[in-house]
Formats: sequence, structure tokens, C-alpha cells
Amino acid sequence: MFEATHVVPGGGVQAWAEPDPSQPAVTELADGVELRVLEERGQWARVEGSNGWTGWVDAGRLVARGAPDAIGAGTSPPPPPSGFVATHVVPQGGMPAWDVPDGSTPSSATLQSGTQLRVEERQGGWARVEGSNGWTGWVDAGRLVQVGATGAPVFAGMGAVPTPPQRCPSCGGDWGPEPWVCQLCGQVNGLATGLRLSSAGKRFGGVLLDVVLSVLTLGIGWLIWAFAIFGRGQTPAKQILGMRVVRVPQQQAASWGVMFVREIVAKTLIGFLVPALVGIVLLFWLLWDKRRQQLWDKVVDTVVIDDPLNALQPA
Ligand SMILES: [Zn+2]
Repeated sequence: MFEATHVVPGGGVQAWAEPDPSQPAVTELADGVELRVLEERGQWARVEGSNGWTGWVDAGRLVARGAPDAIGAGTSPPPPPSGFVATHVVPQGGMPAWDVPDGSTPSSATLQSGTQLRVEERQGGWARVEGSNGWTGWVDAGRLVQVGATGAPVFAGMGAVPTPPQRCPSCGGDWGPEPWVCQLCGQVNGLATGLRLSSAGKRFGGVLLDVVLSVLTLGIGWLIWAFAIFGRGQTPAKQILGMRVVRVPQQQAASWGVMFVREIVAKTLIGFLVPALVGIVLLFWLLWDKRRQQLWDKVVDTVVIDDPLNALQPA
């Protein structure tokens, strides 16, 4: 006599032959399938279906029978297991994982698309990741999808904060406190040795050069040139000066779309519209000032009056 204790929530759950997410899932259980939990191990539950089939699933995703959530598909995502906060997920199509960061050795596992991972360490293009069950392995860092990466691209940080190395592989000095960048030479963590931040002088020089090129080509020439090379993470000045805009988590040159937002949308907003608004607020201060003072009136404590009869004319 089969008596179900749980049901599969909306969206279904994946099932494994063994409680090991580094192995491929063997099947997907559909929404509403009734199950009996036979055994729990960590976050895993061994379940049995009404036909005698058994397998392992993420216990946190099962809905207890008779619980309000069991009705309808309005299920919320399961709370993350305590202590484990995923930073990345496995992309569409899954990806291989290795025991060691060496692609010349055979991979040791295949991770299922959507598996949640936490990046523990980076080495060159490799990332050591941990699964919610404590499994760890090495994967191609460039293929991982950052959790929440689709949400807020404009002010998103650089993703999971890496552990800074003790010694800089580029200059050999102390890496310093900033996890992303060597404070001595500007080597960027996660990029190949020798890929360093451009100097501040070169950055400002690049802006000036872009402005000069833009004026010389009446704007339109610069735009045509820029649109042709945005896809390489460059502007005309950056191309001439050998600089490139890079998205560090992806370890790739910024895409055309990213460059368009950076160079055209964000620069227009931050470089012109925001300063113009600030300027208007500063220059028209008297409009909302109770003493009709401008800010420079406040500096020297003055107001401005009408004095047609020269009442306050110094003798
Ligand atoms: Zn360095």
C-alpha cells in the first residue's frame, strides 16, 4: 500500500540515481507526481514513486502533502541550504568539471544546466566551485553564469569576490588588500598574467583623444569608426592607444552592446546631463531661497536690493 508523503512542486524536480549532483540527473519528475520519502541524507531525500521507482532529489524542493503550497503551481523557489550561497549557475547545456585545473586531463563529472555553485577560487581561466552538497571541482570560469547577472547590468559589481593571491603573479610583489587588482602593478585578478589596468594618465589621455578625433571627424566619422570596433571593447582612442574595456567575470572584451551603453548612454548621462542638472540647481539657487540669495551671496553674506534713490549709496 503506497501512501504519498510529498508531491513534486510546479516546474518539476530533477532526480538522481545517487545523491551526487556531479553525476547527470537520471530523470525529471513532473509537477504533481506523488512521492514517499524513504530516507533523508543531508539535503537529499530518497523517494519512491507509486510504481516502485526510487531515486534521489533535493529534499528542500519537495512539498509536503496537504501543505497549502501543494495546490496550484504558485511555488516559490526553495530557500538556499543554510550556509551555502550560490554565486553562479551552470549554463544551458551543462558543463564538464575536473578534479584538477588541467584541461589536458579527462573531465571527472558533467554538471547539469542550472546547478547552483559557489566560486571558491580562481586560477587563470579556471574556477574551483562548490555545490550545495559540498562537492567541489574545477570548471571553465568563463562559462559560468553569474547569479542575478541578468538583473541589474548597469551597476552590477564584478561578481563573486575572489580570494586575492598572496604574491602578484605579474610583478611578484605583495598583492595588497583589493581582491580584484594588484595595488603595485594593476594586474587584474582572474585575467592572464600581464593584463594590467591602464594608468590614470592614459585613461584621461584616451578621453581627450576621443574628443579630438570626434571634433576632427565632425562627430559622425568618430561614430562610424566606434560602431565598427565597439565589438572589440574599444573606442577609436582606445584602439590607437592599445587599450580595451574588459568584463572581468566573463574574462572577455566588453561586447558591442556593453560598449554602446558605456560610451554613448552612460557617458551622455553622467558626463553631460547630470552636470547640467547640478549646474542648474547651483545657478538658480535664488529661485527657492527665502532671502533670494545665490550661493555666492551666502559665501560673503549679501543680499541684492532695489535702490533707485541711492538710499544706501556710500557718501
Ligand atoms: Zn602586481
